[in-house]
Amino acid sequence: MSIETTTPAAPSNFLRTIIEDDLDTGKHQNVVTRFPPEPNGYLHIGHAKSICLNFGLARDFGGRCHLRFDDTNPVKEEVEYIESIKESVRWLGFDWGEHLYYASDYFEQLYQWAEYLIGQSKAYVDDLSADEMRTYRGTLTEPGTESPFRNRSVAENLDLFRRMRAGEFPDGAKVLRAKIDMASPNLNLRDPVLYRISHVPHPHVGDAWCIYPMYDFAHGQSDAIEGITHSICTLEFEDHKPLYEWFLDNLPVPARPRQYEFARLNLTYAVMSKRKLHELVTSGTVSGWDDPRMPTLMGLRRRGYTPESIRAFCERIGVGRSDSWIDMAILEEAVREDLNERAPRALAVLRPLKVVIDNYPAGEVEEFEAANHPQKPEMGSRTVTFSRELFIEQDDFCEQPPKGFFRMTPGAEVRLRYAYIVRCTSVVKDENGAVTEVHCEYDPASRGGSAADGRKIKGTIHWVSASHSLEAEVRLFDRLFTDPNPDRGGADYKQFLNPQSVEVVSSARLEAGLASVDGDVRLQFERQGYFCLDCKDSRPGSPVFNRIATLKDTWTKK
Ligand code: ATP
Ligand code: MG
Repeated sequence: MSIETTTPAAPSNFLRTIIEDDLDTGKHQNVVTRFPPEPNGYLHIGHAKSICLNFGLARDFGGRCHLRFDDTNPVKEEVEYIESIKESVRWLGFDWGEHLYYASDYFEQLYQWAEYLIGQSKAYVDDLSADEMRTYRGTLTEPGTESPFRNRSVAENLDLFRRMRAGEFPDGAKVLRAKIDMASPNLNLRDPVLYRISHVPHPHVGDAWCIYPMYDFAHGQSDAIEGITHSICTLEFEDHKPLYEWFLDNLPVPARPRQYEFARLNLTYAVMSKRKLHELVTSGTVSGWDDPRMPTLMGLRRRGYTPESIRAFCERIGVGRSDSWIDMAILEEAVREDLNERAPRALAVLRPLKVVIDNYPAGEVEEFEAANHPQKPEMGSRTVTFSRELFIEQDDFCEQPPKGFFRMTPGAEVRLRYAYIVRCTSVVKDENGAVTEVHCEYDPASRGGSAADGRKIKGTIHWVSASHSLEAEVRLFDRLFTDPNPDRGGADYKQFLNPQSVEVVSSARLEAGLASVDGDVRLQFERQGYFCLDCKDSRPGSPVFNRIATLKDTWTKK
């Protein structure tokens, strides 16, 4: 029998196979990947798939992964996004070491390469307006028309391009285009724009430039400059690949990276486009980019998701080449599985109902030992305080119980977790007939929760002592949308917002020990779900808890 001494290898995928082959055949000695966010928004769970893939491949093959900001469009980019992206990648558990790059660091080299193409008669300055260019471009079924400026001389093009750089022309007056093929069946090859004029300062290089390279002209060359071996992007770039290769074929680049495409993550019950996430924030539908209902990494983090659970999720969904949808339940299950193992247990009553144990001496208190994790004695224990007046969950009492209700009902016995067996003897009601207080008697011989005579007690409920508990705000988060595909077919996703995506319970009661929790705390409130301390709104002695997930999936069978 063999004994596994190493952790099992990550599940294979087509990219691993390609890399293994490239290493086997000696095509590459080392694997170099990159994660190339545009700093025009915050990262979301889809980006996590790309981060885990790129950094994961580099880690597993002993290579390296660069973090490169694809900052070619200063109009939409901001330093705030750059910082937040770095923080999110680090939080996910990845490290780019010294390999932090900006496409804008290559602007001078890219400019020189643009002049090189002009010198080869492979690029020209065009004066057509954006609208004219669109008309000249043709369609999928009709070839395009060549621009009247296409055959300018090398000298004239060089002069005009240098004057573009020098700031002589206003935005939109001219562009630099590659001279490829206006009849190509691939529209990306119909003389794509390489540079446009934009008199806008840049978040990383300031006002050094007033012309900026297009994404397509920057990306592959940046890969080549950095010695990227496998440039992995999502499927919508498949049509750009011939252009990616055209640049590498026609420029004196120092290396030959190759582009590979994989299917992006689509997650049900969420929207992921930056524009829509932006709208949710600016319309006040959510409280910010880090609202715990957002699919952003900042939101998931504040919600209480662990980086481990997100990495496990990305591993589980795998990497393929066909577009598909992943059920939100898989993400939720990943955090449950992680926290089920690690989260200490605690008692919390969300909607308190007062219970008075009439035969328990007033003023007396007892401490009961409670395990922090039922299956993990190494996680230790704590004490919970018992007294004559307690709170239980309103839902755990029912005066006229349906069949199969094994919680507290008049006349029946129920176990108070860790403490005693009690029997409800009477109730107090308000003028509307609602139960405001329940009276019980306890069995002093059942200390710890088992009957001395061995009689079976079916139900166990949780509780806290009225005067030894802490009042706290608990936010019960749920999915932001009620429909699995809120933006399908261009629908207005706002009509599917879940009106119950957050319920704020302002006077929950927690076991007293939780008054002193601080920092990155995640707990299982027994019978309720997993909760974390809200990092923004908690104050010493007055914690605010966020529900990360319920104990079980409550959506799938709906
Ligand atoms: P846009 O380009 O519209 O601004 P984007 O989501 O593509 O938005 P980028 O910052 O360009 O944003 O993305 C960085 C990297 O993350 C890219 O390589 C992109 O392919 C990848 N990525 C983005 N969204 C997803 C997704 N849903 N699933 C997997 N990878 C994604
Ligand atoms: Mg993109």
